[in-house]
Amino acid sequence: MAKQERIVEDIEALRRITQPCACGTQRPSYTPEYRRGVEYVRRRMEAFGLKTREDNAGNLYGLLEGRQPDAPKLISGSHLDSVKCSGAYDGIAGVLCALEAARMIVESGVPLRRPLEVLGTIGEEGTRFGQALIGSQLIEGSWGEEQLDAFHGLEDGLSLRQTMRAYGLPGNVEGVCRRGERVKAFVELHAEQGPVLEDAGLSIGVVENIVAISWMYITVHGMASHPGTIPMSVRRDACVGACRLVCAVTDYARERYDGEATVTAGKMEVFPGNTNCIPSRCDLTLDIRTCSGAYRDDLVRFIREKKAEVERECRVEIEVREGMRQAPTALDAGIQQCIEDSCRKLGYSWRRMNSGAGHDAMIFSRIWPTGMVFVPSRGGLTHHPDEFVPPEELAKGADVLYETFRALDAQSDG
Ligand SMILES: [Zn+2]
Repeated sequence: MAKQERIVEDIEALRRITQPCACGTQRPSYTPEYRRGVEYVRRRMEAFGLKTREDNAGNLYGLLEGRQPDAPKLISGSHLDSVKCSGAYDGIAGVLCALEAARMIVESGVPLRRPLEVLGTIGEEGTRFGQALIGSQLIEGSWGEEQLDAFHGLEDGLSLRQTMRAYGLPGNVEGVCRRGERVKAFVELHAEQGPVLEDAGLSIGVVENIVAISWMYITVHGMASHPGTIPMSVRRDACVGACRLVCAVTDYARERYDGEATVTAGKMEVFPGNTNCIPSRCDLTLDIRTCSGAYRDDLVRFIREKKAEVERECRVEIEVREGMRQAPTALDAGIQQCIEDSCRKLGYSWRRMNSGAGHDAMIFSRIWPTGMVFVPSRGGLTHHPDEFVPPEELAKGADVLYETFRALDAQSDG
């Protein structure tokens, strides 16, 4: 069977392993459906001679032995869990393309020198616990026993430890953390989740950085009153102040930093929340993403400058509080070069780009040299039943992984 058909066969098999949901695929971590998905991937790994194991967190590994079992390993994969009513590609595509690259190595009859592990992580999406990147952070070691009791299911209230036990795991993190191990590279293939590759008609994205995310919490204070008796010119409408600020900063980001930075007001609450009352307060959040510290600082400066202007014009008071602030993650330059060389060798179109979404790669880059390969998402769509990566693009992604593994395999360990 051609590699394209093999990948599609696996994608379609996993698409059907889902909790009953209104639409699409729904396979949250530590559920019976997740178990069935893992068992499917495990059987596919074993069919091609990979030695499988599940760690105590529920991460799945398939090992392809190398000629030198002690040489620093290659690891490649992504996550096997999904958000609610999701599609069949987000995360899954990265595991299946890594598996396909491993099959290609087996079929070539020329084994790698290094061991290659295909990895399917658990709990990457924050669906079950409101905490994302669980499997990878337990492997990387930022999280451990403490988090097993600290995290609780959003719907069932069970701790992560109780959930792991109910899933059939021992309920501890023994042997999960791999910090300190000699790993040559971790490479994650993922659907782009944006429209850049598709719009440009390109096959491969070579990821340079994963964006920094900053959150700002904003409260606008106005004055509640009757909506019919207070003339427009003397009101202190908190919602109007909030909207002015949001429009000003999103316009500024579009004009100055289109393609380089994003600002999103994803949550807004108006108080007291009556149809017949001028809003006295409005709470909102701003999510700022960019790989440039300077752009971020400029956007924060602009928000503060506009705040003063809106306070004057709308006769409101505005509090601005900075919440989470992450640093951007620069991926390994040597691996980026290997991915780019592979595209050239294969004659596939590519561009360098940044990732606007967080990924397991971001976590693994703290302990291992890490790279990322993007394949095009139709319409930029993910976290949606209609998400789609054309089969030929998946096959190209697997080819690029194969060539990248070969190149990294040939490098010395110096
Ligand atoms: Zn994902």
